[in-house]
Amino acid sequence: MPAGHGRSWPGRTLRRWVDTSATVQVDEGREDRIDWLRAAPFVAMHLACLAVIGVGVSPVALGVAGALYALRMFALTGFYHRYFSHRTFQTSRAVQFVFALIGASCVQRGPLWWAAHHRQHHRVADTPADPHSPRVHGFLWSHVGWFLTPRNFRTDLTRVPDLAKYPELRWLDRFDIAVPLLLAVAMYGLGALLQQVAPQLGTSGGQMLVWGFFVSTIVLFHATVTINSLAHRFGRRRYATKDDSRNNLWLALLTFGEGWHNNHHFFPGSSRQGFRWWEVDMTWYGLKLMAMLGLVRGLKPVPAWVLARAGS
Ligand SMILES: [Zn+2]
Ligand SMILES: [Zn+2]
Repeated sequence: MPAGHGRSWPGRTLRRWVDTSATVQVDEGREDRIDWLRAAPFVAMHLACLAVIGVGVSPVALGVAGALYALRMFALTGFYHRYFSHRTFQTSRAVQFVFALIGASCVQRGPLWWAAHHRQHHRVADTPADPHSPRVHGFLWSHVGWFLTPRNFRTDLTRVPDLAKYPELRWLDRFDIAVPLLLAVAMYGLGALLQQVAPQLGTSGGQMLVWGFFVSTIVLFHATVTINSLAHRFGRRRYATKDDSRNNLWLALLTFGEGWHNNHHFFPGSSRQGFRWWEVDMTWYGLKLMAMLGLVRGLKPVPAWVLARAGS
């Protein structure tokens, strides 16, 4: 045990709320157990949603919450997943940063952390080395347990050398609470401003904070992680991959195309996850639009041999 270890806890754990580079030494036996102190903000965000009872609701607050869900889901699927994790297209450093920033506002940590764990998932899906497998770890763990453990707080930079060379991305990863905090303050400010200039909208700082930040973020979170949990349990298996991935229309609608998860595990190198015309993939349509506007380029389509193997 290193000198000072006893004093370092819980101080260092608390420091990790704001600076993820602060290391915490834990015994091997605790590596895979939930660190409840470190996880307290995650739990608190769920409880904060209950404040809807006190702050009430208005169409404008619901609209902002919905718009932030849509924008941030697109940033997660289009960029955290299809760009940072799988490199299925190219973009400029500015656009890369803007979508890393929007992704960071989702409170799903920074792009390096997200991509490093996701690459590991593909490499060893549904084996004991998979960070989140319903088959190996159980359904609930694959949904909400795995990322609250000391082992999975860390980012293995050897898995993301292509991303780690950008200091601005490393900064977002290190201070992953900064952007969410800014969004929360902005939501409060927007609500307070609207209350002053347009009282007929019936909103307030507190109401916009609860709906625009807390509710929107928590719904976004649970929608995202259905792909780790439900999309490895329920749906159709078009391809006989080694993992348990499934294609599921409902999850594809909820997550803007990520529900075609069996397609994706069979061929992760495509920017598109709905392989048939009827497989709704909102992220793919959004990326096509961005390509038309010159914001991204080199979108990778589904190769003919992959389609030929699909059958139906
Ligand atoms: Zn998967
Ligand atoms: Zn993937």
